[in-house]
Amino acid sequence: MPDLNLILLGPPGSGKGTQGERLQEDLELPYYATGDILRAAVKAGTEVGLAAREYMDRGDLVPDEVIIGVIADQLEEAGADRGFILDGFPRTVPQAEALDAELTKLGRQLEAVILIEVSDEEIIRRITGRRVCSEGGHIYHLDFNRPETDGICDIDGSELIVRDDDRPEVVRNRLEQYHEKTSPLVSYYEKQALLNRVDGTADPDQVAESIRSLISTLSLEEG
Ligand code: ADP
Ligand code: ADP
Repeated sequence: MPDLNLILLGPPGSGKGTQGERLQEDLELPYYATGDILRAAVKAGTEVGLAAREYMDRGDLVPDEVIIGVIADQLEEAGADRGFILDGFPRTVPQAEALDAELTKLGRQLEAVILIEVSDEEIIRRITGRRVCSEGGHIYHLDFNRPETDGICDIDGSELIVRDDDRPEVVRNRLEQYHEKTSPLVSYYEKQALLNRVDGTADPDQVAESIRSLISTLSLEEG
């Protein structure tokens, strides 16, 4: 399969991380989830983490200049010249413009933006039931994706926790931020003929299948 540069776009809780985990395995591509990168930076107390923390706690987006630098560094790393999957970046039009400029600088281009579509009502159900493992960030749900043993990650045995920003009052703000600042990216990428919509309300296996068939079409087009 040729190298692919992909973006997973969608509201918080739409299933980007769940699908990203699978895609990363299927395609063996470097996977950059800005939420995971920022949470690790907060935990480690780095400069980026200190700059990001208060925004994340409120459910606001961290400033563009903070996150753009983080992603530019990652893409310039050796691994990314085999293609990449971005999850949670870009989230604003200035971030998308910065990504375009960075890719041009690296002589690369995006193959597809995959928009996972889910209603606000379903988002709330998903986020309020989300549990993540404290070790590797593996994703579960109390009803839709239960671990084999309650409260324990199937993969690394660590404890499952509720993300700080998955509290209902913060979730509402995150959804507002999405509609105001991130959803303009839908038309941004439509204009570039890169946008591909996937029905995110189906079960995770079916969503994965839709994404897989979309990617195989892209690969065929590339020859
Ligand atoms: P979700 O998986 O629910 O979409 P993420 O884990 O991707 O959430 O992001 C968690 C938080 O990290 C966001 O609410 C925001 O504060 C911050 N964040 C992640 N990516 C970005 C980005 N590209 N721009 C600004 N803030 C970001
Ligand atoms: P995002 O990365 O977009 O914030 P996640 O992948 O973390 O989304 O998914 C949010 C929550 O919804 C998790 O608890 C996850 O287990 C669950 N989930 C993901 N995809 C589906 C799906 N297709 N159907 C039902 N629940 C899902």
